Amino acid sequence: MSNLKLQGIGMTSQRTRERLVDRLLKQGVSHPKVLDVISRTPRHIFLDEALAHRAYEDSALPIGYNQTLSQPYIVARMTELILSHGKPKKILEVGTGSGYQTAVLAQVASLVYSIERIKPLQEKARQRLRELGFRNVQLRHADGGFGWSQAAPFDAIVSAAAPREIPKQLTQQLAPGGILVIPVGSGGKQSLTVVKRIGDTENYDTQVIEDVCFVPLVAGIER
Ligand code: SAH
Repeated sequence: MSNLKLQGIGMTSQRTRERLVDRLLKQGVSHPKVLDVISRTPRHIFLDEALAHRAYEDSALPIGYNQTLSQPYIVARMTELILSHGKPKKILEVGTGSGYQTAVLAQVASLVYSIERIKPLQEKARQRLRELGFRNVQLRHADGGFGWSQAAPFDAIVSAAAPREIPKQLTQQLAPGGILVIPVGSGGKQSLTVVKRIGDTENYDTQVIEDVCFVPLVAGIER
């Protein structure tokens, strides 16, 4: 990430980000790399100006088109789950949204591929990530439920939108030993789920982590 842009933000947001990290620690996020990345990522850049002052609250915030920027706790938790399975080289994200989680992931992996179905959201995210100087991110306007077969396999796949059932195309695009972190379920009740591919077999281990509340994974694209 370009230092210039970060220096321009000033001490106020640096201090509020540190407060956010303290809250995440209390909520049980403990991975040092995750806390370090959250403390350095300017979440306010990913919000419209009118909401930027709320960027370091631990809550989901609206980004337009009926979508939300994920709660920092959830971004931290998902990233921690990925890192607890090793250092990922290549990550696929489904649901770019504002691009905030993309920015976090781009600091823990060599390459991030991210798919968004709503074109204007993708365009905004592209602009923000470019401004911040990220060069290891590839964005695509498509239905992420099908994954990104040309770029597969992935060491980790993370979804910011909840399908009713785990899409087969996603688990099939995992590298040997790779993991999928995804909220699964419908109507208020979803479970954050980790699916791990066992070696290079077609067998998977599934583990439910906790109850969560995400926007639904929607089929097709919007221009
Ligand atoms: N991590 C993002 C979360 C955005 S909310 C952030 O922090 O900003 C989830 C996003 O998933 C929304 O932008 C929504 O449009 C997108 N989405 C939902 N279904 C999708 C699909 N099938 N393919 C790609 N993106 C999808």
